[in-house]
Amino acid sequence: MTRKTKIQESFTTFFVLLFLVIAMFCFLMNLVKNSEVGESYLDVTAQLPGKHEIEVMQGKSEYLILINKTYGLHETDEPEDLVMVSFRADNRPAQYQKLRAEAAAAFDRLAQEAKGQGLTIVVTTAYRPYSYQKQLNDTYLKSNGQLWTENYSAEPGHSEHQTGLAADVSSPSAGYELKPAFADTAEGKWLADNAHRFGFIIRYPEGREAITGYKYEPWHIRYVGAGPAAEIYNGNLTLEEYLGEVK
Ligand SMILES: [Zn+2]
Repeated sequence: MTRKTKIQESFTTFFVLLFLVIAMFCFLMNLVKNSEVGESYLDVTAQLPGKHEIEVMQGKSEYLILINKTYGLHETDEPEDLVMVSFRADNRPAQYQKLRAEAAAAFDRLAQEAKGQGLTIVVTTAYRPYSYQKQLNDTYLKSNGQLWTENYSAEPGHSEHQTGLAADVSSPSAGYELKPAFADTAEGKWLADNAHRFGFIIRYPEGREAITGYKYEPWHIRYVGAGPAAEIYNGNLTLEEYLGEVK
């Protein structure tokens, strides 16, 4: 073998090795990126038409994610730790009666304590994927019109139900329905006074429509964790105010 051929061969080997190292590096970086997405599905940024950029409250608990008419989630975002709650209405699809593990356990403790007082509080729907929210929203638009839909229903990607941290609850005393009169039932009153002890807040309080963007929903509870829930309850705040989103 001539000296020239040897040098050529060395060069070829060098470049092949370099290529392999780069390829390996790219592969590993992709793995890291994917595992990050898997671990914190809520750490996303995206732009929906006509909406502000999606943001997650940096430095706050993942249970304090803010989803409203401004902030939303991707179509594919889905929590990985969804579990079925034990206290649920039988007349609704079970597949939509799941919450993230910590929230589900907290809700079951809440419902158990209510039961001890002779009250029945059950989940009608909790986690809703983007596709189901889209279907619901389209149905409401057709049957109830634009105004009603804007007041009560979230656009797909902008529903708290997609976080797995929100639940609509009701009771036999309210016919298992979601209606303002639930607030006047024994269950509705107990829920308003006690939900915070289990880490939940009444997410859309009466008279705060201008801040939350929704009419009073005494049936929609949102898990934020016990500490924040107590502060929000005691301060008579909305989640938007608590997170400093209201200037
Ligand atoms: Zn709801």
